[in-house]
Amino acid sequence: MMNKLTLHRVIATLCLAMLVFGCWVAAGLLSDRMVQQEMTATVRTERQMAASIVDNMAQSIASDLAMSRAIPATLAQMDLMQRALAESRHYALNPKATETARRAQWMALPNLARVDAFLHDAQGFSGLDSIWLVNDRGFCIASSNAADANSFIGYDMSARAYVGRALLGGFAEMYGVGRLSGEPGIFIAAPVYEDGLLVGAVIAKVSIDRLRHWVSRAGTFVTDENGVVVMAHDGRLEYQAMPDAPVARMTPSERFEHYRRDSFPPLRVAPVGEQMRQAAPWLAPALAQSVYTANGDASPSLYDERTGLNSGLSAHIVHPLTSWPEISRNHSRDRLLVFLTMLGVVTLAVVIATSYSRERRLHRATRDLAEQLQSANTMLSAEARHDALTGALSRRYFLDTLRHEVELARSSGTPLSVAIADLDHFKQINDRYGHATGDRALEHFADVCRAQLRPNDAIGRLGGEEFGILLPQTSLADAQAVLERLRKRFNHEHCGHLPDGAELSVSIGITELASGDALEWILSRADLALYEAKSRGRDRSEVRPADPIPPARHPENSLAGK
Ligand code: GH3
Ligand code: MG
Ligand code: MG
Repeated sequence: MMNKLTLHRVIATLCLAMLVFGCWVAAGLLSDRMVQQEMTATVRTERQMAASIVDNMAQSIASDLAMSRAIPATLAQMDLMQRALAESRHYALNPKATETARRAQWMALPNLARVDAFLHDAQGFSGLDSIWLVNDRGFCIASSNAADANSFIGYDMSARAYVGRALLGGFAEMYGVGRLSGEPGIFIAAPVYEDGLLVGAVIAKVSIDRLRHWVSRAGTFVTDENGVVVMAHDGRLEYQAMPDAPVARMTPSERFEHYRRDSFPPLRVAPVGEQMRQAAPWLAPALAQSVYTANGDASPSLYDERTGLNSGLSAHIVHPLTSWPEISRNHSRDRLLVFLTMLGVVTLAVVIATSYSRERRLHRATRDLAEQLQSANTMLSAEARHDALTGALSRRYFLDTLRHEVELARSSGTPLSVAIADLDHFKQINDRYGHATGDRALEHFADVCRAQLRPNDAIGRLGGEEFGILLPQTSLADAQAVLERLRKRFNHEHCGHLPDGAELSVSIGITELASGDALEWILSRADLALYEAKSRGRDRSEVRPADPIPPARHPENSLAGK
């Protein structure tokens, strides 16, 4: 059977284990909250940063394109352009003529040569890559790059979407890839009217390379209206298509005409919160929802976009949460730290509580002990003050009382009488009736004294069958009268424990306090008076008045000897 001590130990160990486990669980909850707050703050800051980056991109796109758009719009208002395009409608068109033939023919026309020169100069100061005119049938009739052997002049551009839109009278702006250069750019087309009649369009191209600063920040990219990435900080993303991009619905020839290619691998920007929550369950669902990865990249990122910008462009950012690995590492460290701190605090609390209760127990025990000691002391001092047999004051206490009464009498100027009483032939009582009967006789004497004296008189047992009696505020004569009465009473009142005929008597020596008296002298005088009473036949009292000369001590009855 398990003993009590082992059971206590098992319970204590179990409690300790539960406490440690509780601390570990609480540390987990607390560190979860801490890391959640840290993560929320981080995500908030990073999201603001990502938003401000895409906002800046959108602003750059808007302002750059607004400037680029101003040039063709202005050229479309010029007489020179309007006239040249109006005239070009009447140029005899041979359907079989080749592009080269058309180019040679139109470059030879002095009117158009002037326009070419003008466009060349305009391109030079505008910062555009090239500017050209397209007549109402979609043929390029003049160009800023007319001097190049493979200039656009004579080329049929009617299949280009932006040309088509401009020739329907609308302003067009879109991304495309140049047929001749193979370089991507933004094409801006402004319709040209002459006397209210649509006569053609001014087209300008801004090379994408000039606009690369739009994606100067890591993670940024730009898509066109077909959802194709046309520009990206990470070049590998270019020509990838956003999920559900319209480019997928274009015909292959449309795609080729526009992009000079037919392959648009999907760009995968996907929410990754659920996977992250599996690794880090503390991640709040709302927070997890805002985390993405791009193309399966391991690092979680925030995604933001601004759509519907000029030229049908959209600005995007996949902004990596660079602090994520550190945050998840910190979580484990925080949990350990919080756990150790809690354990420390709990241990301290247990130690304080234990020592407090121990202290209380000790305090109670000390108090109980003190109480016991005090009652023992009280008992002891009561015992020390009184004689166990007769109940009279003990010798020592009687002498203390005498000293006190002497001082009182002196200070108040009242008399004080002192007597010593000694039972006569007491030895014979013992011898005849036994020691126990002798004891009863002593008790009887004390009883008679208590009955005959006043409450403030004092009786003390000086030793054996000898008693001291103090009578405060009593003159010698009065004392003698009182003690004579007492002596007679004792003699006449039969002690019930003694056989009939057995007689008791007492001899008493009386004196009173004199001025200049010493304690010893008073007792010696009473002693001498007692000696006189004994020698004059016993069963009597004798007085010894105050004597200025210190009395000689009676050798047999000396106080010092007792
Ligand atoms: P005297 O008249 O001269 O005083 O004679 P006495 O016999 O009284 O005096 P003594 O001094 O010869 O004897 C005193 C006796 O008192 C001796 C002792 O045995 C007895 N005694 C002292 N103390 C006690 C006590 O407490 N109880 C009893 N029973 N006897 C005691
Ligand atoms: Mg005696
Ligand atoms: Mg005696």
